[in-house]
Amino acid sequence: MGQEAREAVDFAEEPDHVTALRDTLRRFVEQEMPRERVREWDREHRTPPELFPKLAALGVCGVTVDEAYGGQGRDLVAAVAIIEELCRRGSFAAGHFIHCAFYGGINISENGSEQQKRELLPRLARGELRFAYGLSEPEVGGDLASVRTRVRRSDDGAKLIVNGFKRWCTGADFADYIYCLACSDTDAPRYQNLSFVLIPPNAPGVTIHPIDHMNLRYTLSSDVILEDVELPIENLVGGEPGWNQGWPMLIGPALDAEKLEITAVTFGIAQAAVEDAWQYAQERRQFGRPISGHQAVRHTLVEARTRLQACRHMLYHAAWLAQSGRPCSTEASMAKLFVADTAVEIVLACQRVLGAYGLSEGYDMERHVRDLLGMPIVGGSSEMQKNNIANRLGLAS
Ligand SMILES: Cc1cc2nc3c(=O)[nH]c(=O)nc-3n(C[C@H](O)[C@H](O)[C@H](O)COP(=O)(O)OP(=O)(O)OC[C@H]3O[C@@H](n4cnc5c(N)ncnc54)[C@H](O)[C@@H]3O)c2cc1C
Repeated sequence: MGQEAREAVDFAEEPDHVTALRDTLRRFVEQEMPRERVREWDREHRTPPELFPKLAALGVCGVTVDEAYGGQGRDLVAAVAIIEELCRRGSFAAGHFIHCAFYGGINISENGSEQQKRELLPRLARGELRFAYGLSEPEVGGDLASVRTRVRRSDDGAKLIVNGFKRWCTGADFADYIYCLACSDTDAPRYQNLSFVLIPPNAPGVTIHPIDHMNLRYTLSSDVILEDVELPIENLVGGEPGWNQGWPMLIGPALDAEKLEITAVTFGIAQAAVEDAWQYAQERRQFGRPISGHQAVRHTLVEARTRLQACRHMLYHAAWLAQSGRPCSTEASMAKLFVADTAVEIVLACQRVLGAYGLSEGYDMERHVRDLLGMPIVGGSSEMQKNNIANRLGLAS
């Protein structure tokens, strides 16, 4: 038996510190995120600004940052558990945590220059900075190697000048930096012509226009127009050696962590949906008994829980592989694919258990449905994950 096959079934118990973290976060969610308030935030498309600093004060933002740069040392299992717990009340606190610990902490840890690591990582570990992702464009969704946003160097080489149009840039309204993928060499071959640039959204030449959308309404997602945005060369991710290295930065270990993060959100919200339906079915009475006593509802709930359990195993197995430094790109893609598609089935079944109330704004279920419907699309669609898995497993095309 190969080593990978032996190790693949080796994960088991949750470390004590992760269990303790869950207790802390459950208290945080109950105290700071009551259901009624969260429904208001969803209607208003925002998270109150004081929520994230309160979360950061728990010391959770350093879980993706090495100790040498002020973090607790990378702990992806803990990071996934944090997201899962926060998602008991939807994407609101989890979204902001991800903009800090993943978009910021993981990307700078993996791809930043030494100077960027020293400057940014301690602040990210304290929860003082958040990043937004500037990948998608009006003409570019899954095919990110085709981005048209252009970065060039000024004649004296001291400045970066960025022109282009980013779409769906979630958090451009609150972020300290947009982590922006741009074409840096129109003559170089595909995959060797991209760079990442850190763009402060308040830099001259940046204009932001929010897009209305139905899911993940912890903040706005926006069109970001970039017109002759001038930045110091220090804003090139990875420093000088980072020029034209955007593709390897995008598809490296940071992408595995990104797949885990979005899968954790999906799992956390699906779990909230199952718990809500489970409770509702025992409280709602029809035909003289709780509806959970009717076999059709009973079976629906048990199927949902069983699928949820499969999702949990996929997610935490991939997180465990990543945390133990083992190759996990295939498993992370499989988890993203399986959990996103399964969560849609789970939430639609749970919504039906609530009958009319599954469509009412007075319950969280309709928000769970809206959030989960988007999961097979965002963060690399299910079709793209299938392509990745087939390629990685060497399936002849
Ligand atoms: C709420 C929200 C927040 C978002 N936040 C961000 C963000 O912060 N930053 C950011 O950069 N982007 C963000 N996005 C964009 C998101 O990542 C993209 O929607 C996603 O990458 C898919 O791109 P697309 O919608 O343009 O679909 P397309 O790439 O146009 O694909 C459309 C359909 O065709 C399929 N398809 C495309 N190519 C293939 C292929 N080769 N094989 C098989 N099927 C294929 C896709 O799977 C999909 O079903 C966000 C989107 C939403 C809705």
